[in-house]
Amino acid sequence: MKADTLLRNLRIAGRDGPVDLAMTNGRIAAIGPALVCEAVEEEDFGGAFAFPGFVESHIHLDKACILGRCRICEGTLAEAVAETARAKAGFTEEDVHARASRVLDRAIVAGTTAMRSFVEVDPRAGMRSLAALLRLRAERAHAIDLQLCAFAQEGLTQEPETERMLDAALAAGADLVGGCPYTDPDPAAHVARIFDLAVAHGVDVDFHLDFDLDPSWSHLDLVVAETERRGWGGRVTIGHVTKLSMMAPVAVEAIGRRLASAGVALTVLPATDLFLTGRDHALARPRGLAPAHRLAGLGVTATVATNNVLNPFTPFGDASLGRMAGLYANVAQLASDAEIAAAFDMVGAAAARALRIDYGLAVGGPADVVVLDAADAVAAIRETAPPLAGWKRGRRSFVRLRPMLFEPDGGARPPAP
Ligand SMILES: [Zn+2]
Repeated sequence: MKADTLLRNLRIAGRDGPVDLAMTNGRIAAIGPALVCEAVEEEDFGGAFAFPGFVESHIHLDKACILGRCRICEGTLAEAVAETARAKAGFTEEDVHARASRVLDRAIVAGTTAMRSFVEVDPRAGMRSLAALLRLRAERAHAIDLQLCAFAQEGLTQEPETERMLDAALAAGADLVGGCPYTDPDPAAHVARIFDLAVAHGVDVDFHLDFDLDPSWSHLDLVVAETERRGWGGRVTIGHVTKLSMMAPVAVEAIGRRLASAGVALTVLPATDLFLTGRDHALARPRGLAPAHRLAGLGVTATVATNNVLNPFTPFGDASLGRMAGLYANVAQLASDAEIAAAFDMVGAAAARALRIDYGLAVGGPADVVVLDAADAVAAIRETAPPLAGWKRGRRSFVRLRPMLFEPDGGARPPAP
């Protein structure tokens, strides 16, 4: 056979030995051991692990990389919202485009092939951030699929202009709509109006929800009830839900079963949840991470994501989902291969399910391939394996060189596998 690109000697999920993978016209043409194939481009990966790439299910490209413009004195959620709101009023389209480009570049070289970014549209941000990200979505389409979620971060019912702007954003090309009931004076009306917009435009919904450690109240019932009432199962995601980390296992199990049956996915944002929550505990500080792996075990589509990069919500970040899944696995005290494999799934197949995108290494499917410097997915998480190379729809999107050690005799070798 003939192919555009032939990748030799890869390990992939579901196959025992190494296989070759051929790509033609943006699709996977063949997968099998020792393919007889003539290709324009050919590369041998010596048994490294390949998969369709990391899927970022929750990031804020519009407010990334603004540490230099913000104060962090308390390190609380309220301070982060207020400081970012102040900085946001000064965002220009070019400024958002430049900062978001920087993060998107890092995500691509970290092996991410699909992403959902929130973008705030309100009287402070105007439509400038959206305009920048719509432009960036088109410019980087060769390397990454970008979903844009028009987002009401600072409430809705007290600011009717925001609702009109979300409607305009969806008409202008935003892919879905998002809300944040805990910043709204009327959380129930906030949730209902976000669903109204979703139904009117036929788009998915993504909420920031229950982002504190007080288990005595919750907005989760509002979202589950609206999801069922509108028949929107499978199209709704909730992020943070850190309250779950303070609930007894029996209560978490009951909620997990409700989320699974309603078709509501859950995203955990370890870097932000760890940074912002529990600061009122002088000692024995809670971890504040919803137990995503337990919810996944109950049938919930559970994902791990980056959330923020270098801003008052999270003054860290490199947009690496391999690192983020490892952080989650470590803090959640996961150990067995099955548990670690589940953590990998949260930045791979489960995240793709939440975003409802075509995902998987299959003949005839899209030729999205990322190679990691590890033997399998479990080793990739345990060892924070660096990505080596990636292809999007059959076109090479990045490469990273393997490190080399120089020997006293002048020779060079890669680190022992
Ligand atoms: Zn967020």
